[in-house]
Amino acid sequence: MAEKALLVTVDFDKRGSWPIEDVAKELEDLVVSCGGEVVWRTVARCKKPTPGYLIGEGKVEEIADVCRTAGVDTVIFSHDLKGSQQRNLEEAVKTKTIDRTQLILDIFARRAKSEEGKMQVELAQLEYLLPRLVGKGIELSRLGGGIGTVGPGETKLEVDRRRISERITRLKRDLKEVSVSRRLKRKKRTDQNVPSISLVGYTNAGKSTLLNSLTNAGQLTFDGLFTTLDPLSRQYILPTHQKVILSDTVGFMYELPHHLIEAFKATLEEVVDADLLLHVLDVSNPKFRNLHDAVIDVLKELNCQDKPTITVLNKIDKLTDKSWLRNLEESFPNVVSISALKKENLSALTGKINEVLVPTTTLIDVEIPIGRMDLINLIHKEGEVKRVDYSGDFVRIRAVVSFKLASQLAAVKGIKSAS
Ligand code: GDP
Ligand code: MG
Repeated sequence: MAEKALLVTVDFDKRGSWPIEDVAKELEDLVVSCGGEVVWRTVARCKKPTPGYLIGEGKVEEIADVCRTAGVDTVIFSHDLKGSQQRNLEEAVKTKTIDRTQLILDIFARRAKSEEGKMQVELAQLEYLLPRLVGKGIELSRLGGGIGTVGPGETKLEVDRRRISERITRLKRDLKEVSVSRRLKRKKRTDQNVPSISLVGYTNAGKSTLLNSLTNAGQLTFDGLFTTLDPLSRQYILPTHQKVILSDTVGFMYELPHHLIEAFKATLEEVVDADLLLHVLDVSNPKFRNLHDAVIDVLKELNCQDKPTITVLNKIDKLTDKSWLRNLEESFPNVVSISALKKENLSALTGKINEVLVPTTTLIDVEIPIGRMDLINLIHKEGEVKRVDYSGDFVRIRAVVSFKLASQLAAVKGIKSAS
């Protein structure tokens, strides 16, 4: 049975640039993608946070009333709660109370599949929990980690704290190792001169669908949030035979809490190291401009805002009026309108990818000694071979290869330029 949730969207005088109803809608989407059912939602307007309950006491009473009558399982706040506020609220409304960060962590925890993803989530959960671990009220059992036998002369709280700190240290160390091994893998890929392309974009924009449509990766898509947590990479061959690696990424969201960005850095390293970004936008969403800006904010945090980017205007099949698309297209330097689901205009996208990646490749026309089959194979493997002629001891090859491979070949003795 779906967990019944009551959503409290907190509206302070000073808040972000998002309209409050969008904040509320995102919170609802998050809950639904978690399998929850929203039974009631409310906006709590206040000038500034109150120390006790974050929001005003009148509102707290109202929430307590609804909890009593509507059988609410969980109260969810759009705004982060301090440990003391959370405990006070739980006491007042007599119902489990969590905040948006905890909700996101919960979703991450449900979706994490790889060892690394799980470790990242656990680390983020523990780091979130540790400063909130004062007195009673927090259920450690939620972590499922068998924490807490009371040592002689120690309170349970101290033991829990120490164990959590130790676990955090260990997770950080293990994660570093995993990250090193992933870096090595990536390095190998760079050595192979294969450009990497990262799909970024607000959750639900259609990244996984696009990756599927392009590569038939067969990865789960789901009309909900965060179906892809773990880095997912697929090899893809452009129509020009250029090999590329396409990677899906974790959902970007409005005001992704900063500590989560840190915790998920390994996932986002794919973005940092990419040669090209595909920024997928759901233009059927009336708020797509806000979503676009939210993604750009995250890219800025990763120092990736200046990376070569193709803006992919997705879900055009859902538009009844397409006349404004042209204007929109003009506002981005590299842009393609597609439908990832209906596979509309995908060739324009691959053409654009090729165009943007082109400066990394060059046409060579070389004569290679027949004894250097290794190099001949390498050109076949990594490049797009246009023509091969055998003449005596040499093989003449005309091919489009990466600049890197071209300069590698130029440095080999015995290779002659044929043109
Ligand atoms: P992601 O979170 O960015 O990976 O988004 P998904 O690929 O999971 O897509 C989210 C939802 O949008 C799914 O229900 C998709 O079927 C749907 N979707 C994706 N692309 C399109 C499209 O081009 N047209 C339509 N109509 N729906 C799409
Ligand atoms: Mg996805």
